[in-house]
Amino acid sequence: MVKIKMKPINVSNTTLSYKARRHRKFDAKQAKRHNFGKAHCMICDEVFTKYSHNVLVCSEECQREKRNAYDRKYHEKNHEKILAKQRKYRGDNREKVNAAQRKLYAENSEKIKAQRRARYHAKKKKDPEWIKEEAARNRKYREDNREKVNAAQRKLYAKNSEKIKAQKRARYHAKKKQEEE
Ligand SMILES: [Zn+2]
Repeated sequence: MVKIKMKPINVSNTTLSYKARRHRKFDAKQAKRHNFGKAHCMICDEVFTKYSHNVLVCSEECQREKRNAYDRKYHEKNHEKILAKQRKYRGDNREKVNAAQRKLYAENSEKIKAQRRARYHAKKKKDPEWIKEEAARNRKYREDNREKVNAAQRKLYAKNSEKIKAQKRARYHAKKKQEEE
């Protein structure tokens, strides 16, 4: 979303140093000290009064948009490099990353589950074949990593046995009730 600027911003109290960004003020009551002229904003194309000789955008919103566009482009261009760097960081800091993820998940589990469900259904709707492919991929993974998967499942079961038993009981009774009807 790009903000539309109706009027040029007032630059009466701007500093001449474009590095001193924090101290720039916009105050309509003060006399204008200098004039850098006007320009078209490179993001929203509105005319704005420049507060520096080399400013390209009209507002903080457009500055942000410019920054985001740059970031997006950078990510597209360096996708592989960024992924490799992330992988390396995760490998070097496995415990730290895992702990952070556990914390994040614990704090947002409902939201994350809802997002996953939404993504799953969107994918399913877009490409019904994907479910079959995904199931085949999972099957192959389980076959290739049987010991690992079994161990993980045993661990999971030990941790959640009461919950799992309750689920099984609920499913069993639901099915039985259905058959009786
Ligand atoms: Zn703009």
